[in-house]
Amino acid sequence: MQIADRCVASFHYTLTDDRGEVLDSSAGGQPLAYLHGAGNLIAGLERALAGHRAGDKFQVTVAPEDGYGAHDPRLVQVVPKSAFRGVTELKPGMRFSAESSHGPMPVVITAIRGDEVTVDGNHPLAGVTLHFAIEVTAVREATVEEVLHGHVHGEGGHHS
Ligand code: ZN
Repeated sequence: MQIADRCVASFHYTLTDDRGEVLDSSAGGQPLAYLHGAGNLIAGLERALAGHRAGDKFQVTVAPEDGYGAHDPRLVQVVPKSAFRGVTELKPGMRFSAESSHGPMPVVITAIRGDEVTVDGNHPLAGVTLHFAIEVTAVREATVEEVLHGHVHGEGGHHS
């Protein structure tokens, strides 16, 4: 059967950036299972999977707007080191949960210059063009319960 709304599809993926660097991959593990049409995946990937069948292999390039969004410069802030009380050694790449007007927000330290620490609250893949190599491994009809919950149950899904 073809991937359409109310289907559960499983697939292997390898995600690379513009330079061909592998950012994420399901290789060597379980395929990812998702409920199609429920917004479980980034929009560009979900759209590309529609109509495919088990055994299909394809590649798709997803622009940031259809992926994790554009990089928002307003989410980049410079804060004093004293804002990180209790942390003995600050390094670029360290992740923290920052207080924001929308509740806790994950941020990553991108630069440290003297007493000034630059933190970025964007998704790590914001602004990144995503290149997926996909292999669809299975497609089945979703159960009523899965459709009601908006996610996959059982193997590769929730409650498993
Ligand atoms: Zn559930």
